[in-house]
Amino acid sequence: MEMKDKNNKKNPPIKIGQKLVLTVEGYNSKGEGVCRYQGFAIFVPYGLLGEKIRISITQVKKRFGVGIVLQIIEPSLQRAKPPCEVYNRCGGCQIQHMHYGHQLEMKEQIVEDALQKIGKVYETEVVKPIMGAKDPWYYRNRTQIPVRNRAGDLEVGFFTEGTHQVVQAEKCLILNSRLNSMMSNLKEILAKQYGENAGGSEKHEEPIHHVLMRTSKGAEQALLVLVTEKEDFNGKKEMIEDIKKQMPELTGLLQQVKPKRSKGDVQGRLASLFGKDHITDSIGPFTFKVSAASFTQINPDQTERLYDKIVELMNPKEDSVLVDAYSGIGTISSYLSKKAKKVYGLEMSEEAVNDAKLNAEKNKLANVVFMSGKAEQSLLDLNKEGIQVSGIVLDPPRKGCERSMPELVSKMGIDKIVYVSCNQGSMARDIGLFRSVGYALKVVQPVDLFPQTSHVECVVLMSKVEK
Ligand code: SAH
Repeated sequence: MEMKDKNNKKNPPIKIGQKLVLTVEGYNSKGEGVCRYQGFAIFVPYGLLGEKIRISITQVKKRFGVGIVLQIIEPSLQRAKPPCEVYNRCGGCQIQHMHYGHQLEMKEQIVEDALQKIGKVYETEVVKPIMGAKDPWYYRNRTQIPVRNRAGDLEVGFFTEGTHQVVQAEKCLILNSRLNSMMSNLKEILAKQYGENAGGSEKHEEPIHHVLMRTSKGAEQALLVLVTEKEDFNGKKEMIEDIKKQMPELTGLLQQVKPKRSKGDVQGRLASLFGKDHITDSIGPFTFKVSAASFTQINPDQTERLYDKIVELMNPKEDSVLVDAYSGIGTISSYLSKKAKKVYGLEMSEEAVNDAKLNAEKNKLANVVFMSGKAEQSLLDLNKEGIQVSGIVLDPPRKGCERSMPELVSKMGIDKIVYVSCNQGSMARDIGLFRSVGYALKVVQPVDLFPQTSHVECVVLMSKVEK
């Protein structure tokens, strides 16, 4: 969307509490409706393109305002009734109020917007129609469930957007059914646990902050991780017994001790309480050992299509030497190895590299080598060894590549880049950087890995411009 608000930057034409009737003209990067008043942008969560709505302004910033919908005067045909009972309160989904077809249109739009605004890419015909999911519900294979015991009320559920408040739901419509039944088992077990141990005490025990769950493809295997304040807690033994009894098919139960103030996902040592400390998962023709803390994609069906697309775009020749940077447990490396002469997987997490090596052995892939350390450094090492790399897959974390990466890839004379991203902002920035060092943008293929949420995955093909 064009920016017409230059003159209004200092003096927004709206005030908090002001009521306006406006039409939704587009979407911002979070899938919220964007309206304009005297050219000034107003973000309206739950507003759909083309709808005439009455809003009340709730925030005014320098460059945009925020409003809430008071009334939908002319609803869009794309408006769906959100099937989840806690949709308005839970932070997990953002776009259940759109029919699935429109979710996909919206995602194509936000990819094009990011490319234009951040990457200065105006030839949006490179953006291909998004690959939608066959089933946009019950797809997630892992989750994190916060547990609270405030004022004696046990809360087991999901976080409200941007807060640490827990919303409880009977079930979650984007988790697979095994995770849903594990969640309800867990609720019963925790209710019993806290019920028995809180009795008579003023202070309500909160030994478990959250629980992590992950399942393999088809949910045949499942792991559960209790993330606790201390190693020992009241009723631990009974709780392990209850879990064994109620979830007899659990592949493994683990515990991670994490003092309250520490942040982030699973880190640190995971101790096994019973069963295995990993699951064996499969993606396409390959099997992978997946530890409780490893990164893997959360949508198994769409992941296979994503990986097929990566190989298709890279289109390696038999004698190609490829790099898979940010390789995790070696999933993309495995896919590439079937078509190339040699693949180097570069990954910083030592645990992931160990799993990747084991996985390559399991899958009998003799032409894959994993290097532990920062991708930038490992690439330099390959360069020093005089290894001629013809193509590189970059699948960085949300923040994108290291700043030194584009220069380095270009200096090594690598012809093809397949860039994989779950954040269109950093992707657009990195595409801009690669273009400035001699690469042409060929294809941006959005893939819907995260239906019902505003997130979108993209695979990008860039190739070196002949001089
Ligand atoms: N390609 C994999 C994993 C992608 S997630 C898959 O499809 O499953 C991103 C990975 O990058 C993580 O495993 C993280 O540990 C790793 N990582 C983050 N920064 C890195 C860096 N500077 N160098 C190498 N690896 C890095």
